[in-house]
Amino acid sequence: MIQLHDKFFKPFLSEEEIMQAIQRMADDIAVDYKDETPIFVGVLNGAFMFVSDFLKAYQHPCEVSFVKLSSYHGLTSTGIVETLLDVPDNIEGRSVIILEDIIDTGRTLKELVHLFSNTKVKEFRIASLFYKSEVYNGEYAIDYVGLDIPDKFIVGYGLDYNELGRNLREVYQLNQKHMINLVLFGKPGAGKGTQAQFLKEKYNLKHISTGDVFRYNIKNGTELGTLAKSYIDKGDLVPDEVTIKMLEDEVCKNPDADGFIFDGFPRTAAQAEALDNFLESKDMKVDATIALEANNDVLIERLLERGKVSGRSDDQDVEKIKNRFEEYNLKTAPLKEYYEEQNKFHSVNGIGSIEEITQRLTKVIESLSN
Ligand code: AMP
Repeated sequence: MIQLHDKFFKPFLSEEEIMQAIQRMADDIAVDYKDETPIFVGVLNGAFMFVSDFLKAYQHPCEVSFVKLSSYHGLTSTGIVETLLDVPDNIEGRSVIILEDIIDTGRTLKELVHLFSNTKVKEFRIASLFYKSEVYNGEYAIDYVGLDIPDKFIVGYGLDYNELGRNLREVYQLNQKHMINLVLFGKPGAGKGTQAQFLKEKYNLKHISTGDVFRYNIKNGTELGTLAKSYIDKGDLVPDEVTIKMLEDEVCKNPDADGFIFDGFPRTAAQAEALDNFLESKDMKVDATIALEANNDVLIERLLERGKVSGRSDDQDVEKIKNRFEEYNLKTAPLKEYYEEQNKFHSVNGIGSIEEITQRLTKVIESLSN
């Protein structure tokens, strides 16, 4: 998996597959044109690599030239096709074969056909290395095709995503796999961490506990740890700016994940909004927020028990625990409404055996894909 700007791409075609397709095209074209000297016209910028390798594979007399058009901006075709470099001179009476890197809707092709229709060429042919036959809706039949590919955004081998990726030897496809992103919601001690351990195995998810990340940083004496410690020791929340940035870094460290379990995040309205915006920028979203419900008496008992084993100072003092509950009621509980408005809020009884609770959570998760 590679990252270009904000998007992730997975390997799609190897260098070898591309070279084989090009050799087949060169052989097919040679059958038709080896007895004359055709002019191959590459369409810049995307086709520069294809033209180079194609010419090396085409072992007969030929000339080469280029035109330059522009129609893509970001991931979608804008429909605006500008001519930036016009048709070459002296093509009258000659056979011209256009070398395109990719043909999808056919808008650029239409403009190319238009460009050449005003010239007195002997013959005009189109050869495209990649062709999205599913979405092509032009009138012109493509004469030579390297590889018919599905309608997915691709980069590499001359093709770019906002100018990055052209220098890759292979072709990569935009990663649009189905992800499950869950927010585990609930007061301290509700069992979020315990349940996350089971769910992450079951659904192959990456578990991000902001509390764990803070504790890791405290243990390792990082700057972030020192800052967070003063808040955590009192049972207060760490400021949003710090927490949001840290969470985003954790997500970015795992570009291959099939999804995430957010445990202990978001805990404030600002964090919830930041999470939505951040995930949206990565073509991701929160699929469900699942709250583990349990009453304070049960939770205090659980936390004090945990404190004996874990040594967590914030689990050993009833006053600190109560402060954490207060922080929850004040800042986190209102998020229920935020997710209810998005129809993403699910409540699960958090009292019972670990297995029973896992089953309740699984039931909610399985219902999501229906
Ligand atoms: P936890 O392990 O989730 O109970 O978190 C322990 C402590 O870490 C909390 O009491 C907070 O001080 C801090 N913390 C964890 N997650 C967050 C968050 N999303 N926002 C602010 N502070 C957090």
